[in-house]
Amino acid sequence: GSTLGVLGGGQLGRMFVHAAQAMGYRTAVLDADPESPAGLVSQHHICTGYDDPQGLAELARLSAAVTTEFENVPAAALAALAAQCPVSPAAAAVAVAQDRVQEKAHFARCGVACAPYAVVETAAQLATVPAALLPGILKTARLGYDGKGQVRVPTAGALAAAWDALGRQPCVLEKMLPLALECSVIVARGADGTIVHLPVQRNLHRGGILAVTEVFAGNLPRALAERALAAAMAIADGLQYVGVLCTEFFVLQDGSLLVNEIAPRPHNSGHYSQDACDLSQFELQLRTLARLPLTPPRQHSPAVMLNLLGDLWFAPGGGEQPPPWAAVLALPGTRLHLYGKREARRGRKMGHLNVSGATPEAARATALQAAALLGIEAF
Ligand code: ATP
Ligand code: MG
Ligand code: MG
Repeated sequence: GSTLGVLGGGQLGRMFVHAAQAMGYRTAVLDADPESPAGLVSQHHICTGYDDPQGLAELARLSAAVTTEFENVPAAALAALAAQCPVSPAAAAVAVAQDRVQEKAHFARCGVACAPYAVVETAAQLATVPAALLPGILKTARLGYDGKGQVRVPTAGALAAAWDALGRQPCVLEKMLPLALECSVIVARGADGTIVHLPVQRNLHRGGILAVTEVFAGNLPRALAERALAAAMAIADGLQYVGVLCTEFFVLQDGSLLVNEIAPRPHNSGHYSQDACDLSQFELQLRTLARLPLTPPRQHSPAVMLNLLGDLWFAPGGGEQPPPWAAVLALPGTRLHLYGKREARRGRKMGHLNVSGATPEAARATALQAAALLGIEAF
């Protein structure tokens, strides 16, 4: 088989590598960390930064095609690679997803509503922020993830300090919305424009980090799910996107649907697809990259995914030890995915637990039992 390249060596890259290897491909990963989760399991591991021309040239030389698992790969690196081999998603699409200002402009072009916001790039813009946006959340336009790069702003008087705290970088101020729930949609779009999607995922965040994803029929009002799917497909089509794209949504207490943000890669909220669908989001990524057919994925089991953050390794009384995996795996329908990260840290994504069941009630009951064993808050 030929070799496929990945920019970034995190857990998303690792799970892509597993999917690619299962179909006989070899892989090459570029990541500066010699112990990166994806680098550890790949045939080739190029240990250089994204700005190293020699590393990029080596990746292009080895690879029949290259994708990315890290959303903040410099657009220049993708452009440099694209001159040497096929790259998907394209640099232009990734650039939109990397910048909240461009991202929101794209949503408007697609006719998909997002939260009311103002661009804050200058002190003059900061001074003229409409009062109606407060209380709000100030978010850096670039490089934020897991709620990092965000400051809550209760009143207009708190704006200047919030912008200072973010280093006076270009930001957007979003109105703080009364969320009823959050959901997301993963689509895969091929080079020929074929587009398929996973079912709409319902997500629970804690402290700005995804905690739980639940996916089963009846989990969301049907009309709402249809609107989310249509919006996600419009956003992907509008980018001429090739690859796997996740769109995150807010649902407000009045039932309205607003797009939050997009991620130009497989997404944490799609991990359940590994064990509950006939095609996982990583196999979809592989198929788009290798120009293989895309067929509509079918979910065969109700699913709950629990994120396993580094916090679980730290006992309440201090001391560090792995969680009780054997007790969790004794529950039927549980599958444990760990990313091979050597060091647990609070808030660090160490793995996830996929739970499936014959019925939504069964999957939920098992997931609640697993959560209790692990010390994860109930949901
Ligand atoms: P990710 O890790 O998903 O990339 P991120 O750091 O880019 O996250 P956001 O998705 O912007 O952050 O926000 C993280 C979470 O904070 C959201 O999922 C939501 O729970 C909450 N949040 C963000 N913006 C708003 C808002 N305008 N109103 C209410 N809650 C919000
Ligand atoms: Mg984000
Ligand atoms: Mg988000």
